[in-house]
Amino acid sequence: MALRDLTAAEQVAALQAGETTSLELVDAHLAAVEADDVEAFLAIDGDGARERARAIDAMPERPPLAGVPIAIKDALSTRDIVTTSGSRMLEGFRPVYTATCVQRLQDAGAIVVGKTNMDEFAMGSSTENSAYKNTLNPWDHQRVPGGSSGGSAASVAQRQVPWSLGSDTGGSIRQPAALCGIVGMKPTYGAISRYGLIAFASSLDQVGPFARTVEDAALLLRHMVGRDPMDSTSLDWPGGITLPTATDLAGLRVGVVEELMGEGIEPGVRVAVDSSLKAIEDLGATVVPVSLPSALSGLATYYVLAPAECSSNLARFDGIRYGHPVPADNLLDQYEMTRGQLFGPEVKRRIMLGTFALASGYYDQYYGRAQRVRTLIVREFEAAFEDVDLLASPTSPTVAFPLGDRTADPYAMYLADVCTIPVSLAGLPAISIPCGLSEGLPVGLQLAGPAFSENRLLDSAHALEKALAFDTRPPGLVT
Ligand code: GLN
Repeated sequence: MALRDLTAAEQVAALQAGETTSLELVDAHLAAVEADDVEAFLAIDGDGARERARAIDAMPERPPLAGVPIAIKDALSTRDIVTTSGSRMLEGFRPVYTATCVQRLQDAGAIVVGKTNMDEFAMGSSTENSAYKNTLNPWDHQRVPGGSSGGSAASVAQRQVPWSLGSDTGGSIRQPAALCGIVGMKPTYGAISRYGLIAFASSLDQVGPFARTVEDAALLLRHMVGRDPMDSTSLDWPGGITLPTATDLAGLRVGVVEELMGEGIEPGVRVAVDSSLKAIEDLGATVVPVSLPSALSGLATYYVLAPAECSSNLARFDGIRYGHPVPADNLLDQYEMTRGQLFGPEVKRRIMLGTFALASGYYDQYYGRAQRVRTLIVREFEAAFEDVDLLASPTSPTVAFPLGDRTADPYAMYLADVCTIPVSLAGLPAISIPCGLSEGLPVGLQLAGPAFSENRLLDSAHALEKALAFDTRPPGLVT
C-alpha cells in the first residue's frame, strides 16, 4: 500500500513500529503537495518539514503524533511561514508566533508541510473568494471544493496529507468536508484556542480537523482541546477526547431536523441522507423527527451578526496597524490604497453590511434583533436535546457545484451554509461524514450534539462510518 493511502493513525502506528520514518512519510506527501494537482496550497514549507522530520526520527522516543505530516489553513498563524488568510492585504506576512492549536500539534510531533488556500478572511463557501487562486474539487476538477477551508479539504481528499486543520464560522469545515467526501468537525465553541486564528467573527470562529476517518479526526482533536491562557474564551476539558470505538448505536436517539430536509435540498442529497438514516436505525438507534422552527432564520441572522463582527475585526487592516503601509498624502488616500485596493469584493461587502447593521440608527433593528433570534435558536437546540442525543441533517443542500456557478450571486453562495449555520449560532459541536454519492459526487451527513458531546458524536460517527463503508478515494486518483 502506498504511504499516502495510510490513515494518520496507521502512519503513527507504522512509525512507532519502526516500519517507516517520518522523513519517508514527509517526502511521499511532499511530492504530492509540490505537484498540487488541485491547487490546494498557498505556501509549502518543504525544507522546514524535512528538517523537523529528521529531528523527530532522531529522537530516542517518538512523540504521540510521531512525525506525521499535516496541512494548515492559511487563516492560522505559523511562525516564519507566510500567512495570508487568502488576502492580498496580508501578502508576504510572516507571523512572529504560531497559533496555539498548531503549536500543540507540533509539540505532539505533527509536521506542517504547508498552508492551504481559502476564501479571503474565511468569507465564502467555494474558496473562489481567495485573492490568489481557485482550488479544484478532487472528485471533479470543474467543480468547487467548498469553502472557506477548501484547500484543507481538497488536500486531504487528494491524499496530499492524511489530515489538516480548517476553521469554521458558519460551516467552513463541515461544508467543504461534505463536498470533498471526507470527515470534518467543528467542535464546541471554546473547545480549541483561537489564539493565532486570524479573526473573522469571533463569537462563531472555531478551529477543527479534516481527515479521511473519524478516528483520525478524534486523534487530531485530542491534541488541540483545552484551556489556553492566551484565549479567554477557551475552556478546560476534563477527561479530554477519547478515541472512538463504538460498533453500534444501540439506545441512541437521533432527531432529524425537519426544517433542513425539505425545500432546497437536492433530491440526490436527500436520497443519500435518507439511506444513512436507515443505516442509523439498523445500528440500533431510534430516529425521530424534530422541529427547530427558527433554523431557517439562521441564515439571515448569521448574515447580520458575522458581518457586524467582521467589520470590527477587520478594522485593524488599514496599512498602519496591519497590512501593507502605503505612502499617501492623507488618511483618506491611505485607506483607499489599502482597504480600498487590497480587500476583495466579498470582504468589502461584508464590512459595509456590518457597519450598516451596527450604525446607531439601525443597531437595534438589525444587530439587536439578530442577537435575539440567535438566543431563540440556542433555546430551540436546548429543547431538542432534552428529547434526543444527536441531531441529523444534510451538511450541504447540494453536492459540489461548478466553478463560477455562484460567484455572481452572493445569495446563492450564502445558501450553501443553510444547514450548518444554525449549529454555529448555537456554539455546538457537529461533524460531517461522507454518506454516499449523488451523480458521482460525495454527499455529507451532519451530526450535531449538545455542547461538549464530542466524544459521543465521534463514537456515533465512527460506528456509522464503518456501516456506510464510503470509499474516500476520488475517481482516478493515483497514489
Ligand atoms: N460560508 C460562510 C460565510 O461565508 C461561512 C464561512 C465560514 O465558516 N468561515 O460566511
